Formats: sequence, C-alpha cells, structure tokens
Amino acid sequence: MPTTCVNCSKAVGDQQSNIQCDACKGSIHLTCTDLRAEDRVTRHKVREIKIICNPCSSNIEIFANLKSMLDKYNEDLQQKINKIDGKVDEMAGRIVGLEDKLSVAGQYSTAQVPIK
Ligand SMILES: [Zn+2]
Ligand SMILES: [Zn+2]
Repeated sequence: MPTTCVNCSKAVGDQQSNIQCDACKGSIHLTCTDLRAEDRVTRHKVREIKIICNPCSSNIEIFANLKSMLDKYNEDLQQKINKIDGKVDEMAGRIVGLEDKLSVAGQYSTAQVPIK
C-alpha cells in the first residue's frame, strides 16, 4: 500500500525520510516538519517531543474551540443549577413553614371538634 504524507499528500518513501504523526499515526516527510534529522533520532525517539501533522493540528484546534464552548455551556448550566437549587431551598423552607402551620391548624381543629 503506497503511503502518502499527511502534510503534503505526496508519496512517502523510505523510513529514514519520514516520521509518524503522534495523533493519527500517519506518515509525514521529515522535510514537511520543522524537525531536524538529529531531533528525529534523539528527541522524538525518547518521546521528548510530539509530532502532530497539519490535519491533526487543525483538528486539535477545532476540538479546543469546541471544548471551550462546552466549558462555557457548563458554566452557564452550573449557574442555572445554582439558581434552581436556591429556589428549591426557598420552597423547601416554605413547605416546612406550611407544615408547621398545618400541624398547628390540625391540633386546633381537632380541639374544636366536639367529642360525644
Ligand atoms: Zn510531505
Ligand atoms: Zn496526524
């Protein structure tokens, strides 16, 4: 299967002149990266640097944008939840107050019922 470079779409030749994208595992010409040959055999081999091809880096950008959008939605949602929580607490307080009144009213009406 002929392999093409993910950056320039041209055929990729021998192993020595290309490198793998760390995200999609696609092949990239060494000349299509800003990596020097000595970096490939030293820094990349020991995983000190990551190689990300152009399509992956634009995807990463899209994901980063989506993530920040989601974070914003989460923030808005959390604020709404906090507001609802506040209302629920307020209503719970009212219900407790009503229950107190009801039990007082209950005792009162029981006392008013003539027992024969
Ligand atoms: Zn290339
Ligand atoms: Zn890639």
